Amino acid sequence: MDTATHALVGLICGELAPKDIKHRHLIGLGFGMLPDITNLILVHPYLGLLAGHTIPFAGGQDFIDFPQILDHWTYHVWLLSHSLLFWAIAFLPFWRRSPAAKLAAIAYASHLIADIPSHTGIYGLEPLYPIPYIFDGWFDAWLWGPGPIVLSIAITAFVYLFVRQLRKRYHWPSERILQRTT
Ligand SMILES: [Zn+2]
Repeated sequence: MDTATHALVGLICGELAPKDIKHRHLIGLGFGMLPDITNLILVHPYLGLLAGHTIPFAGGQDFIDFPQILDHWTYHVWLLSHSLLFWAIAFLPFWRRSPAAKLAAIAYASHLIADIPSHTGIYGLEPLYPIPYIFDGWFDAWLWGPGPIVLSIAITAFVYLFVRQLRKRYHWPSERILQRTT
C-alpha cells in the first residue's frame, strides 16, 4: 500500500480517537506512515543505486529485476519495521501509559495490517520477523501504477471525511464530560 494511503488510514485512527488526546490527528497520521520510513530512506535509495538509476530511487519493477534486495540489510530493516512481533515489543509496554500511546500503537498496527494482505510471493510480509515465516498475501498493492494509487488515496480520503461526519454525532464518554464542563 502506498504511504499516502497509510497516512490517511492513520488520520482516520486519529479522528476516531478521543478528542482529549492532544495532537491526535498528527499522532495518527505520523505513526500510520512511520513503518515506511525504512522504505523511503533505505530500501528504495539502495535499490535505485543497484539498478543504476540517475535518481537513486527504485520503482516497483526494480524489485522484480533485482531480487537480491531480499538478502540486503536495508530490506531486513524494512521487514523488522513491518513485524507484528517488533510492534508488540516496541509499543505494548507503553500501552497503559497514556491514551496517546494507545493511539500511536493502533495507528502503527493499522499500517502493518494493511500491508500483510497486499504483498505476495517472495515479497510477502514476515509478520513475525525475525521468525522466518512469509505470509503470501492476496494482491500486490506495491506494484500499482499511478491510477490505482490515486484511487486508493481518494477512497481513503472519502472514508476519512465520512468518519469525520460521524464523529460530530458519536462521542467517547470522556468527550461527553468535556462537553458538560465547558
Ligand atoms: Zn509499509
